[in-house]
Amino acid sequence: MDKEPNIAILENVRIVLVEPIFGGNIGSVCRAMNNNDVTDLAIVNPRPETDWDDARKLSCNAQAQLDARKEFHTLAEAVADCTVVAGTSARTGFYRDTAYSPREFAPIAMESAQDHKIALVFGREDKGLANEELALCTHIIQIPSSKRYTSLNLSHAVMVCCYELFTAAGHFQPAEEKAEEASSELRERMFDAWREMMIKTEFTHDQKLEHMMMGLRRIFTRGKLTIPDVKILMGLARQSIWVSNQWKKQLKDSP
Ligand code: SAH
Repeated sequence: MDKEPNIAILENVRIVLVEPIFGGNIGSVCRAMNNNDVTDLAIVNPRPETDWDDARKLSCNAQAQLDARKEFHTLAEAVADCTVVAGTSARTGFYRDTAYSPREFAPIAMESAQDHKIALVFGREDKGLANEELALCTHIIQIPSSKRYTSLNLSHAVMVCCYELFTAAGHFQPAEEKAEEASSELRERMFDAWREMMIKTEFTHDQKLEHMMMGLRRIFTRGKLTIPDVKILMGLARQSIWVSNQWKKQLKDSP
């Protein structure tokens, strides 16, 4: 590595664990974060039976990270203030086939983390992330691994991702001034408006709605969505809903 990593950028990186099972893994995640100057840990829906003693033991000198963790009821709340939200998955397949490797993802993350919070989301040890959780993600990360056994231990997966960010932060050059990136919370409001538009305009059948929504999410997160972009897309959906309502009213009122 040619330079010291930019610690301020790494402070904007949040590691989100969704319903982790083993306290030991949570502790090892804290240790991996600590090795890479990543400090922000969020846990979604922590399990009441979590072995926090184990977590403490395995965190070694990263107990501060463990103690400073934030807890949330839902993934949407845990990432609401983040621009880039990257879900990690060992599985390939539908919606996951456009995955980035951690190395490909690192420069994308660095650019957003210059001045925004970003999140890397990790799933349960037994079941990973659900499709509805992956839907909230702007990017999917898949760590290349043996075809014979693709699934890494949770804390190892966090380590590989944090290491790539740490390395990338060492040679990151800030970009030119640009429009503000949209937060997850704003993006989700836009997707709600598009969902309503698809229903009101009868664009698709009920059974196909979620499938269409996933397609839209992938299209709209392929590039970086700025606040002005989201406002245009939201305005378009709201106008279409309005026109569709007017049209239906006219049809009903016409003799
Ligand atoms: N059986 C689960 C694996 C869970 S492993 C499944 O099929 O999804 C726990 C978590 O570690 C995963 O949810 C993911 O966040 C991360 N992980 C494990 N292996 C990974 C890989 N090869 N690429 C990306 N993330 C991985």
